[in-house]
Amino acid sequence: MDSVGVAAAAPDTGPGPAWQSKCPWGAPNTTSISCSLADVMSEQLAKELQLEEENAAFPEVVAAAEGPFITGENTDTSSDLMLAQMLQMEFDREYDAQLRREEKKINGDSKVSISFENYRKVHPYDSDSSEDEVDWQDTRHDPYRPDKPTTTPRRGFIGKGKDITTKHDEVVCGRKNTARMENFAPEFQVGDGIGMDLKLSNQVFNALKQHAYSEERRSARLHEKKEHSTAEKAVDPKTRLLLYKMVNSGMLETITGCISTGKESVVFHAYGGKSATEDKVIPPECAIKVFKTTLNEFKNRDKYIKDDYRFKDRFSKLNPRKIIRMWAEKEMHNLTRMQNAGIPCPQVVILKKHVLVMSFIGQDQVPAPKLKDVTLSNEDMKKAYYQVLNMMQQLYKECNLVHADLSEYNMLWHDGKVWLIDVSQSVEPTHPHGLEFLFRDCRNVSQFFQKGGVAEALNERELFNAVSGLNITADNEVDFQAEIEALEKMNEDHVQNHGKKLSTFSSDGDPPIYDE
Ligand code: ADP
Ligand code: MN
Repeated sequence: MDSVGVAAAAPDTGPGPAWQSKCPWGAPNTTSISCSLADVMSEQLAKELQLEEENAAFPEVVAAAEGPFITGENTDTSSDLMLAQMLQMEFDREYDAQLRREEKKINGDSKVSISFENYRKVHPYDSDSSEDEVDWQDTRHDPYRPDKPTTTPRRGFIGKGKDITTKHDEVVCGRKNTARMENFAPEFQVGDGIGMDLKLSNQVFNALKQHAYSEERRSARLHEKKEHSTAEKAVDPKTRLLLYKMVNSGMLETITGCISTGKESVVFHAYGGKSATEDKVIPPECAIKVFKTTLNEFKNRDKYIKDDYRFKDRFSKLNPRKIIRMWAEKEMHNLTRMQNAGIPCPQVVILKKHVLVMSFIGQDQVPAPKLKDVTLSNEDMKKAYYQVLNMMQQLYKECNLVHADLSEYNMLWHDGKVWLIDVSQSVEPTHPHGLEFLFRDCRNVSQFFQKGGVAEALNERELFNAVSGLNITADNEVDFQAEIEALEKMNEDHVQNHGKKLSTFSSDGDPPIYDE
């Protein structure tokens, strides 16, 4: 017999050939193998196992909606609803991904970022997914990332032997945590602990950080909603609360509706109520001017306030939200000055943050028409012109102000006379561009009344001299403007040299009035 033949046949037939007992590793235990290699490599099995795992984690959602997509089988195509849901989910996911890409593209490296979070088609468990978190960090400042490189090297410790200080050292860590608070969003108040030798434990810091995150996310959401709602002539929740409080306190009877939505403000009409204090009388009808808190609208107005010495010191220290409040404050101060000089203008009732309440020019909820919208008789037109000339002079001399946005759009015709409104941007004549603003005002006024057929109306240069008391003789606009700018520069130089402004350019012999 051929020995090779026996050995070859043995595995199939006998209980075990002689060579197996001699094998140094012993006999292979074939009975314990529960599945074949083919099974192990089976994609189907892997998917089934995965499904099983996921079913445990997300029992309902996965079973109902996600399952079919992951496994590629188990597909119950008989259910139209499920098919629709599956498609919708796929669509939503694509939509969200696209939103994220756009958000990223728009925000770039900018410190101020916009969020599309509100527009996401949020999934039941996607909303809190870590992917979302990462994405969020991508587009905003990451508080974890220190501004300066840390002194602890990558290996996580410094020093040698016994003097090793690890990155986990309590004191170092505590200080670092305190310093990191500075990276929280600007609106998140962290107090003045940053300047002290305060050591925040990781636990406290993490709690604070989480809070700062959620605050920032919340405010981003509000911001979105706000932008959305102003488009619908409504206001953001914080402003609404301010308005509710005014009604609640009885100061206002009712807020009836919106009169105007501009780029920088929304104006509402309200019926006045009772004042908390005896000495103050609330007008029967009020106008509520809400300065928009959408920051970028105000960017191009910086120049008015930045160079206004009354606000100069404060300007640099303020965040954009406070700068907007300053516009409201400025309007209030300017209106009060005008009121004191007897110029027809809304009377200030109250200022709360970025909301200014004043008397309503008009009647029975109908606002007085702007000069541009009203057709006046020749006689009224002439009357209006002289009145405006007078008011401009008063504004300049008595209020020490230049309107800086004077035109037929900001003058109302009511009770047979002109009322001046919209003075948040008004500046003092010695503002670095004050005279230029005045010249622009004069041009608008002059053109309006000349076109309106008032033969007596001065031209813009004559009007400028009449209002300012200056005597600029240039007979053409270019030279005239050059002289204006020269005067402004002279005044700026004076400020540089003497630290104070001459408050008037007037050569009529009045003693100059200095800073308030
Ligand atoms: P904006 O900066 O948006 O131009 P305005 O102060 O000019 O702000 O107000 C916008 C509009 O609201 C005005 O054109 C006017 O029609 C109306 N308005 C503002 N204040 C009053 C008021 N006190 N009484 C009546 N209408 C007002
Ligand atoms: Mn206006």
